[in-house]
Amino acid sequence: MTEKGEEGSASWSQHSLFTSLTTALAISSQQASSDKKHSCRNCGKVYALASSLYTHEKYQCGKEPQFKCPYCPHKTKLKGNLKAHIGFKHSNMPRDF
Ligand SMILES: [Zn+2]
Ligand SMILES: [Zn+2]
Repeated sequence: MTEKGEEGSASWSQHSLFTSLTTALAISSQQASSDKKHSCRNCGKVYALASSLYTHEKYQCGKEPQFKCPYCPHKTKLKGNLKAHIGFKHSNMPRDF
């Protein structure tokens, strides 16, 4: 089985080249994004995405939970969390929204 051995050595050298390339890319992208963090002006919480910070400032930071569960006293700051709560806790209830 000489064919198999050659294949193995070829893919190995390709693999090591690929690894060194991706490592270099990961390092450069880390350096590029390090000064692009978005931090909350109120509490200093840092987000990688501007949209995440926007959601935090609009719905979470210093805010009371405004999405209330129609089936129990549970409240949440994010609509997605309420949907997950209803799906998890009240999956047998009819959903009218
Ligand atoms: Zn905040
Ligand atoms: Zn509930």
